[in-house]
Amino acid sequence: MKICPKCGAEHKKRGPFCGYSCANSRVQSDELKAQKSAKLKEYHATPEGAATRSIASDFASRLNKNKALERAGEYVLSDPDWMLDIPLTTDNMHTYPDEDDTSWL
Ligand SMILES: [Zn+2]
Repeated sequence: MKICPKCGAEHKKRGPFCGYSCANSRVQSDELKAQKSAKLKEYHATPEGAATRSIASDFASRLNKNKALERAGEYVLSDPDWMLDIPLTTDNMHTYPDEDDTSWL
């Protein structure tokens, strides 16, 4: 028997929690957050990470700029340059890779 750390119920399930609701509502510890943050910084230090971050920040600043213009009441044309034509078929809509599967990256 295990005791669920969230609600204190006894259970025999895999993992420390009695069910999905308790497992999903768990709070991230500061230690875990620090570990994730360190991992991300490590990744950003690699050339690939730097490129990814650069692309992401370019995109974000562009969006923010457009939002600021919209707030100012200016009409912003949508920019078709970065809009990719993504073919969507019913076949590949259900074949997203697993979260842990990075082979497609
Ligand atoms: Zn529980």
